[in-house]
Amino acid sequence: MSQYNPFENAQRQFDGAAEFLGLDSGTKALLRQPMKELHFTVPVKMDDGSVKVFQAFRIKHNDARGPAKGGIRFHPHETVDTVRALSMWMTWKCAVVDIPLGGGKGGIVCDPREMSDGEQERLCRGYIRQLFSQVGPCIDVPAPDVMTNGQHMCWMLDEYETLAGGHYPGFITGKPVALGGSLGRTEATGFGAVYMLCRLLENLNIPVESTTASVQGFGNVAEYAALLYTQLGGKVVAISCWNQADGCAYTFKKAGGCDIEQLRSIKDKFGSIDKDKALALGYELLPGGDWLSQGVDILIPAALENQITPSVFPNISKQVKIICEAANGPTTPDCDPLVKERGIWLIPDFLCNAGGVTCSYFEQVQCNMNYFWSREEVLDKLNSAMIKAFDAVYELAVNEKLYMRDAAYSIAVRRVVEAVKLRGWI
Ligand code: NAD
Repeated sequence: MSQYNPFENAQRQFDGAAEFLGLDSGTKALLRQPMKELHFTVPVKMDDGSVKVFQAFRIKHNDARGPAKGGIRFHPHETVDTVRALSMWMTWKCAVVDIPLGGGKGGIVCDPREMSDGEQERLCRGYIRQLFSQVGPCIDVPAPDVMTNGQHMCWMLDEYETLAGGHYPGFITGKPVALGGSLGRTEATGFGAVYMLCRLLENLNIPVESTTASVQGFGNVAEYAALLYTQLGGKVVAISCWNQADGCAYTFKKAGGCDIEQLRSIKDKFGSIDKDKALALGYELLPGGDWLSQGVDILIPAALENQITPSVFPNISKQVKIICEAANGPTTPDCDPLVKERGIWLIPDFLCNAGGVTCSYFEQVQCNMNYFWSREEVLDKLNSAMIKAFDAVYELAVNEKLYMRDAAYSIAVRRVVEAVKLRGWI
């Protein structure tokens, strides 16, 4: 278990921004913790006839700028502090890309890899029954996150609409296109990260075709980030992902470059690459942590939080120029000074992976209009939103000689403070 508490990390990052912005004590006290927390249990009838009771959470950090927005995670090690941190990061994420939404997050302590589809469906429906009065298109809008997918969103939507007695497709995002989802949503987070990565490379005068990258994760975010990055000419040298059967992660390496389409065809729906098939295709199998020590230009952590810490930082090759934080919270606050000191450009998580929530916002807009855009239109709007947000952060970082994370916090927190003040809360 990690020694890092993600909520303490999120608070520590916020405290730095609050000090930088000179926030008063009342504003600080309001924004350094969630406004509302729901802790509850969901009983589920299991296939063998037994009843299992799952611990669940839904947390709203701040909704001054609009309805709370945030995914629901299924994870056996989910903790309330992870959900708190993620809800807080959602507030800053929506603010930094300037969409009219607040920050929320949900989680259920469970392992869907060990559950049948029927058990997962009953869990999804039970979660929504418990939450019904506290969520909705104008209150709090869930979405998928780690180990949840479009099917889970459909079951949750159906349960919500059954209880509400009407159609409310804007209640939840990340739905399949056949049920009111947005084209482009599946690839939005990974693509969004790469749009920003390419913008940074452009600013640094580095052609993307000349770069190499190492990626942690091969789930939704990592897969699409790796796909677009390689389509644009970059070379992914290594990919690390979890192997459930062995209870550990492996790094799959191909010095000549990983074939992302090929790896996609041998991964399961949880983002685990089949070890034996990869070996047969000529991939080297290295320990899970080795993705970090590759001699590449770019590191793309796209799996979990607390992966880049002071203890592993010395393993990072001197060649690394950019860390593209596609995951939430992959770098611990005590490691930021080391990243800064080495002069590595870091695209901070809540900016870097904001493509997902931005496209979720587009999904809500389309659902509310009951009129849907083409994939090109969605990705075009996504690209513009990502570049606009990135440029504002980059410009502030360069002009004020700030670390990119500090610049992003400065913009996001300022926007939330303005909304909170306008509402008369402080
Ligand atoms: P996912 O469940 O689809 O994939 C997670 C990946 O991480 C899998 O490939 C898994 O094998 C890998 N993994 C797990 N433990 C690992 C370990 N110890 N070492 C190496 N790999 C490991 O999840 P996702 O949706 O791709 O989310 C990844 C990250 O991005 C999370 O931090 C999530 O909060 C964040 N995020 C996701 C979205 C989204 O739209 N899905 C949006 C914003 C942020």
